[in-house]
Amino acid sequence: MTESIAHGVAAANARPTCPFCLGTGRVTGRKGATWCGCVLKRIFRSVFNAWLYAENIAPFSYRTQPNLEVTPSGLVRGYKQAEFAADVILVVRRSLDAWHQEVFRAHYLGGLDWRACLRVLTRFAAHRHGEGCPKVDRGNYFHSIYRLQLILGRAFVGLEPHCLFPVRDYYRGYGIRRRQLAVGASARVRAQEHALKAGA
Ligand SMILES: [Zn+2]
Repeated sequence: MTESIAHGVAAANARPTCPFCLGTGRVTGRKGATWCGCVLKRIFRSVFNAWLYAENIAPFSYRTQPNLEVTPSGLVRGYKQAEFAADVILVVRRSLDAWHQEVFRAHYLGGLDWRACLRVLTRFAAHRHGEGCPKVDRGNYFHSIYRLQLILGRAFVGLEPHCLFPVRDYYRGYGIRRRQLAVGASARVRAQEHALKAGA
């Protein structure tokens, strides 16, 4: 199955020295054109860094003030940072199986080094009696991290109708501030007449 690939996004986020895509961001295999791993890893890193900000820093900054959003049912007040953080975690839960979720939790959310992660994962695998878990060793652990980066990168960029990447579009795509609202022609004419009367 050929994926729909935005060429601009692929080329802009590819590693220039990538030996697989030669900096184009797309590779063609037996199943057709697809994203190169270097692009998916970068997409994952970008969204995850934005999640770190939204989760850990935004609640204590001025950006926590609510913003207005245009929806089919009218204007809605929303907390974009909190929504973004929740959306990312939802995508993680939907896209990854139990093993990769545990790896994500230990490595990215817990911030543990590989030795501590292996201890956590060994306990996890023992709890599940090894069901759906590979052999817990250093090699499989790093392979799992690489795999989950690709899975999540593909999930973040392919979300319909609004994807999480580019992050900028998530925040600015449909959000506007109150002062950016169109005031309408009659209000503008009234303001001009008022200004003329006032001698401006
Ligand atoms: Zn590449």
